[in-house]
Amino acid sequence: MSEEAEKVLVIGSGIAGLTAAIYTARANLNPLVLEGDEPGGQLSLTSEVENYPGFVEGINGFDLVQNMRQQAERFGARYEGGRVERIEPGAPHSVVLDDGRTIKAHAVVIATGATARWPGLPREREYIGHGVSTCATCDGAFYRGLKVAVIGGGDSALEEALFLTRFATEVHLIHRRDTLRASKIMQQRAFDEPKVKFHWNTVVESFVGEPEEGLRGLKLKDVATGAEEQLDVDGLFIAIGHIPNTQFVEGVLALDDQGYLNESVVTHVPGIFAAGDVRDHVYRQAVTAAGMGCQAALEAERWLGASALG
Ligand code: NAP
Repeated sequence: MSEEAEKVLVIGSGIAGLTAAIYTARANLNPLVLEGDEPGGQLSLTSEVENYPGFVEGINGFDLVQNMRQQAERFGARYEGGRVERIEPGAPHSVVLDDGRTIKAHAVVIATGATARWPGLPREREYIGHGVSTCATCDGAFYRGLKVAVIGGGDSALEEALFLTRFATEVHLIHRRDTLRASKIMQQRAFDEPKVKFHWNTVVESFVGEPEEGLRGLKLKDVATGAEEQLDVDGLFIAIGHIPNTQFVEGVLALDDQGYLNESVVTHVPGIFAAGDVRDHVYRQAVTAAGMGCQAALEAERWLGASALG
């Protein structure tokens, strides 16, 4: 084992990466965590997390991530900023960063997540936690008895819209075309649900209400007629897709047609493991990401032990 190689390098500091860090740190593997562009991952962008087991009153997403970060640090995890450009598999693996550095590591856990696609509306990020969300499962329950809107026409948008009907009095589905991209079965479910109101050929142009006071409505535009209207809603859920952060492993690991890792937690490259939303476009939950981070860490520990590197 070369002197400078890390035993474990965790790429990504969302829930999956931090869980992998907690487990590998507790196993005395002294993991190095590369935090990336969005330290804490998607959860640090949500407000209250009410469905993470163990928090009766819920916990702020940012606080949950910070707690996990400190928990791993307590057992010896170290953190560095850095964006990975590519991985050159080897023994050890070479992880090349875009600032020219190369980190050598025997075991690499890829937990770079997926980034929600945003429509690019004025001040959209300022409304996060103030009426705008990218996760109905996370934030839907805050809109009990209120009106909400969803942007998108794919399966995610319809799934979010249908989920939101449990809480909201009206769910306005805003789609830029006049046909949905979603599967027929999801379309039928949405058409059959009276609370879901469709706005075809429609885009959101801007928000009504200041971020600090909360969202009050949306300015909509019909792209076919040019007509504009205001829709009064208390919440907006953006469901126009996610972009998995996998560009740096193209050609090294298998990707599906949407760019998600098409590999199990133990990838086909010995010593490379994968966890969290980077390989999951179905569940996308903090608790499932944590579970995968744990699996990846235990597999890495086992692999290092079997290779007499741990
Ligand atoms: P998606 O299928 O790519 O759909 C994205 C939707 O957002 C499309 O309707 C698209 O409009 C719209 N959109 C994209 N950019 C936009 C923009 N800037 N402004 C306004 N609208 C925009 O993404 P997804 O719904 O997240 O689904 C991803 C994959 O996961 C799909 O394969 C889906 O089947 C799968 N999935 C499955 C399930 C399930 O089976 N239960 C649930 C969720 C997701 P256009 O249609 O005009 O392009």
